[in-house]
Amino acid sequence: LLPDPMTSPRPPQRLPVRRRAILRERLDELVASFDRRHLTPDPLELVLRYDDPLDQECAGLIAAAFAYGRADLVVAHAGDVLVRMGPSPFRYLKEGFNRSEASRRFRGFTHRFHKTPELVALLAHMAQAIRRHGSLGALFESCYDDSEADIGPTLGRFVESLTTQPDGRLETAEERRAVAYLISSPRDGSACKRMNLFLRWMVRSEEPDLGLWSFVDPAKLVIPLDTHIHRIATFLGLTERRSADWKTARSLTDALAMFNRQDPVRYDYALCRLGILDLCSRKRRKENCDVCLLRDVCRFPVLAAP
Ligand code: SF4
Repeated sequence: LLPDPMTSPRPPQRLPVRRRAILRERLDELVASFDRRHLTPDPLELVLRYDDPLDQECAGLIAAAFAYGRADLVVAHAGDVLVRMGPSPFRYLKEGFNRSEASRRFRGFTHRFHKTPELVALLAHMAQAIRRHGSLGALFESCYDDSEADIGPTLGRFVESLTTQPDGRLETAEERRAVAYLISSPRDGSACKRMNLFLRWMVRSEEPDLGLWSFVDPAKLVIPLDTHIHRIATFLGLTERRSADWKTARSLTDALAMFNRQDPVRYDYALCRLGILDLCSRKRRKENCDVCLLRDVCRFPVLAAP
């Protein structure tokens, strides 16, 4: 039988000791060079607008669900949704949400291929989860099992519970598809970049993250694998896998655990900044490589012409 990538323990990684030491040093320097001042544009900005953890959970799930496409548009569109929810997204979902009122309240919402009906479907699922379990955190805690190798199975149970049919109303196939896209599950092999990003915000307590869900061991998190992280990890030789799926996210997390076993996802924010801020672009540029902290550990820096 092949090992199940969802539940098997992290495999040991092999990297020459010297290269591993230099890579760790460079990655730690990179982490130290980015803090919350470098956040914009990032959907986490929206979460940091709230003080109450219950609001931060709701804002976080909405911001993460729509965190695809250009970061500045994600902030603008998800930010508009949160403004329309009033001062407390948690209170709105717990006490104020109903579908027909929400269809009017969020009329005109668009983010790429999602529009008002898909947004309202997502909010209906969140409202139901909050009314049944008390909060999103309480639901996640009820799904969490510390004995599992990583957060994948918990995430699968959380998504399953969150996406059960809300408020006795039959959803259309389009609504079901949209919710499955917005709140993805590792059970279908997806990298679940946006859900893993949401978990990073909720679980990690170091800046820029919030550390709200202290019942989760940060060592269990899986890196939010997006196009920037995948590309830069390939440049660094931390992955050779080409498909951006759950297996790749897991194997890259295992590679990062060589540098920090307790908190492998700590490198995500800084590595992702390189991509989002265009400091390491898809078309590699010499002016970026010349000043890049990772230059001596990168396999493909752009060098001066001989
Ligand atoms: S050296 Fe260049 S290609 Fe390599 S990570 Fe840095 S900016 Fe990207």
